[in-house]
Amino acid sequence: STNKFDVIVVGAGPAGVAAAFQLARAGVDVAIVERGEFPGSKNMFGGAFYGRVLHELIPNFWEEAPIERVVTKRLLTLMSSRASVAIELNSRRYAQPPYNGFTILRPKFDNWFAQKAVEQGATLIPATTVDSLLYEGKKVAGVRTRREHGDLYANIVIAADGVNSFLARQAGLRKDFSLHHLVVGVKEVLKLPSEVIEERFKLGHQEGMANEFVGGIPVKGGGFLYTNKNTISIGVVAELAALKEKKIQVVQVLEDFKNHPTVKEMIRDGVPVEYGGHLIPEAGFNMMPELYTDGMLVVGDAAGMVFATGLALEGMNYAMAGGIAAAKAALRALRAENYSAGQLSCYKTLLEESFVLRDLKEFRHASSFVQNPRIHDTYAAGVTELMEKLFTSDGQPRQKIMKMAKSQFGSKVSLLDIVKDGWSGGRGLL
Ligand code: FAD
Repeated sequence: STNKFDVIVVGAGPAGVAAAFQLARAGVDVAIVERGEFPGSKNMFGGAFYGRVLHELIPNFWEEAPIERVVTKRLLTLMSSRASVAIELNSRRYAQPPYNGFTILRPKFDNWFAQKAVEQGATLIPATTVDSLLYEGKKVAGVRTRREHGDLYANIVIAADGVNSFLARQAGLRKDFSLHHLVVGVKEVLKLPSEVIEERFKLGHQEGMANEFVGGIPVKGGGFLYTNKNTISIGVVAELAALKEKKIQVVQVLEDFKNHPTVKEMIRDGVPVEYGGHLIPEAGFNMMPELYTDGMLVVGDAAGMVFATGLALEGMNYAMAGGIAAAKAALRALRAENYSAGQLSCYKTLLEESFVLRDLKEFRHASSFVQNPRIHDTYAAGVTELMEKLFTSDGQPRQKIMKMAKSQFGSKVSLLDIVKDGWSGGRGLL
C-alpha cells in the first residue's frame, strides 16, 4: 500500500537527504517527510559548506548545485570593543576543484539536494509534520503525521529532525539538551551588488570569504560573516545559558556586533532581506544520545553531530556523513530482515570508523575550552588591545612586549588562570 515504505526519513536537512539519497540509489523504497513547504524552506545556518562528503555522493556537485561562492579566503578576527586583529588565509588550492568550502543559502541548496534524492527514486512528502512515532510492541514501526489518515509505516525510521529532535526524545534516546550545550545563532542576509562584495573583500569573480570573529560581544559566543553572490550573511552565536544568566537578548548581541566599527565598515550599505534564528547542539560528543533503538536510527543535529571548536563550526558535512552511515546500517538490516537494536548497532561502528565520531571524540574537550568566558572577553580583547598599544606611537616611552602583556592581562586574569586555560586549550585543540 502507499503508506508503507522500507525506510521513512524524517527531516529533509542534509542528514536526512543524504540518507535517503544513498538508500534510494540502492533501490530501497524510502520516503522523506518534511514539515517545511519545500525542503530547506525553514532551514538556516551561518554559511560555509565543506563539500568532501557530497563530492563522494554526487561527484563534481558544484557544477550544478546552487552554490553562492567558492571560499578562497578565511579570516579569524579577534576583537576588543573598538579595535580588531585579523589573521587571514588566502589559498589558491581552495580555488581549484575539488575545492574546500562553498558559501550557500540553505533554502536553495537543501531543495536542490532533496530533488537529487527524488531523482534517485526517493518519495518526498513535504509540508507534512511528524507528530509522533508508531510502535509495534517496543519496535518503532512508523510515524504519525499531522494529516488526515496520516500514519506512515516502515521497517526503519531514520530521525533526521534536527536539534530539537522530538523523535529521539519520544523514543527515550535522549533528554532535552542542556542549555549549556546549546548555542543560539541569529543571522541577517544583507543585499549588496556582487562588484561591491568583490572589491570590498578583495575577492575574485565567484570567490568568497568566510570570517569568524572572537570577542567583542558581551556573552560567550562569536560572530560570523560570509560572502554570497550578491548578499552577505552576518550573524552571531551565543550560549543560551550565558544569555539567560546575563538577561541579554541575542538580537541585541547581533545589533551590537553589527555596530562594531570593524563590522560596520564591512556591511556598509547592505540592505536587509532575510532574518532567522536557530539552535546549534554545540557540545558534540559530550551531548550525544543513544544513536539507535529497535526500528530507529538518529542522525545529524538530532544526535549532536556538530563539530565546534570555537574556531570552526561544521555541521552539514557531519550530518551528511552520518546520514550515509545510517543508510548503510539500514541497508544491512533490510537485507537481514532484522530491525532490532542489536542489528542496527553497526550504525555506531560505521560512525566510529568514519571521521564523524573520530573528530567529535578527538575534539571532545574543545567545547569546554570554548565555554571558557575568558577566551571571549579577556584574551580576544586583550590581544587586540596589546596589538593596538604595540603599534601606537604617541610620544610616550615604549614598553617591551612582555611588560606590556603583563600590564594588559595582569589586572584581569591570574597567572594560574592563564596556565589552566593554556592547558585546557591545548588539551582541546593541540
Ligand atoms: P537540519 O538541517 O536542522 O534539518 C532538519 C529538518 O527536519 C528540517 O528540514 C526540519 O524542517 C525538519 N523537521 C524537524 N522536525 C520535523 C518534524 N517533526 N516533521 C517533519 N520534519 C521535521 N554548519 C556548517 O557546516 N557550516 C556552517 O557555517 C554552519 N553555521 C551554522 C550557523 C548557525 C547559526 C546554525 C544554527 C548552524 C550552523 N551550522 C553550520 C550547523 C548546520 O546548520 C547543522 O549542523 C545542519 O544543518 C544539521 O543538519 P540536519 O539535517 O541534522 O538538521
